[in-house]
Amino acid sequence: MKEKLAINGGPKAVNKEFLWPVYDASDVNAVTEIVQSGKWGNPDCADEVAKFEQEFAAYCGSKYAITCVNGSVSLRLALIACGVKPGDEIIVPPYTFITTASSVIECNCVPVFVDIDPDTYNISPEAIEAAITVRTKAIIPVHFGGLACDMDAIMDIAKRHGLRVIEDAAHAHGAEYKSKKLGSIGDVGSFSFQSSKNLTSGEGGIVITDDDALYAMMRSLRNVGRIEGGQWYDHYNPGCNYRITQMQAVLLSRQLKRLEAQTKKRNDNGLYLNQLFWDMNGVTPLSRSEAITLHCYHIYIFKYDPTAFGGLSRNDFAAMLSAEGVPSFKGYPHPLYKQPLFQNKNFMCYAIPDHVDYSHVYCPVAEQACANDAVWILQHAMLGEKEDMEAFAHAILKIQRAVS
Ligand SMILES: *Cc1c(COP(=O)(O)O)cnc(C)c1O
Repeated sequence: MKEKLAINGGPKAVNKEFLWPVYDASDVNAVTEIVQSGKWGNPDCADEVAKFEQEFAAYCGSKYAITCVNGSVSLRLALIACGVKPGDEIIVPPYTFITTASSVIECNCVPVFVDIDPDTYNISPEAIEAAITVRTKAIIPVHFGGLACDMDAIMDIAKRHGLRVIEDAAHAHGAEYKSKKLGSIGDVGSFSFQSSKNLTSGEGGIVITDDDALYAMMRSLRNVGRIEGGQWYDHYNPGCNYRITQMQAVLLSRQLKRLEAQTKKRNDNGLYLNQLFWDMNGVTPLSRSEAITLHCYHIYIFKYDPTAFGGLSRNDFAAMLSAEGVPSFKGYPHPLYKQPLFQNKNFMCYAIPDHVDYSHVYCPVAEQACANDAVWILQHAMLGEKEDMEAFAHAILKIQRAVS
């Protein structure tokens, strides 16, 4: 029996609102107390910021954490601290948010795009190995959607070639690889606290590391080049003011207390949705190996096959699914190298060598994911109940029946 689709004015398959961010009176009180204390800023009264940094480092099993204004600047701090020089090549995936690659440009370095794995949508270790040249300095693996990259393979490549590894863990707060928190495996882990992320204060970012020298440099860069024990108006390094406020820090401390339980809930819902999708035609979850001890499903991604939906395009399907009330989206429209920034080489003052040319870059798996295959269900929906996961599956079946 065919039901009228919500996109055509029919009733929605899913009628629940999935709220994000999650907060209660204790968050409001914590921020209110800071406001009333008058100690809003970091350098004079860094107590809440330092406290959250210690909490986050401990949570990740890392020695140090340094907050900063967002999860893009955090990548830049990591790259500069790792000692990149103009013209160095940094290997990145093309299926990620722009700043994974544009932060590289902002360091006068060259992003080298290598393809993702079709089963995980994470950067392919074989493709990394094939792209290494004498100029390669670092790899930025992105734990896409919260699914851990193949870190054993990536760390092995880095060791053999003397490369730095900066984990872009903007999607991966609380997620694990072989029981280790993501971000704690490479030289530096970088996180975002922007409003859509699994841990948020509206805006914000953080880097974690075990390395004393990287810690000291990233701290200095975050604080206009000041150094530990230096004078207020003495500046040693080319940093900027990337500090967060005390209001953000208390909010993050409160939110961090909820993170582990939220991550487990998303993980369990993701496993359940996988089971439901395996019994359906035309929707295939990405694969997760034994090494994924905890997935935080910042994005639950599945691959869509139009042949099981009467030839309906992925874009039309994604619009219908969203209209049915499933918080979902078709994802990135293009691999990053297709962005005008790279195609037109709008590098402005940045010292990118003239020979760099993105017009011929082509990563087939990322192209296919962007154009035809990927559908995203967003993290706040993954905080729902088991019945909600069943309702998502039902919404897909409703569309399938209607268009077949
Ligand atoms: C969100 C995001 C960033 C940037 O974080 P902002 O805090 O928004 O600057 C970097 N990398 C990835 C993969 C992201 O999703």
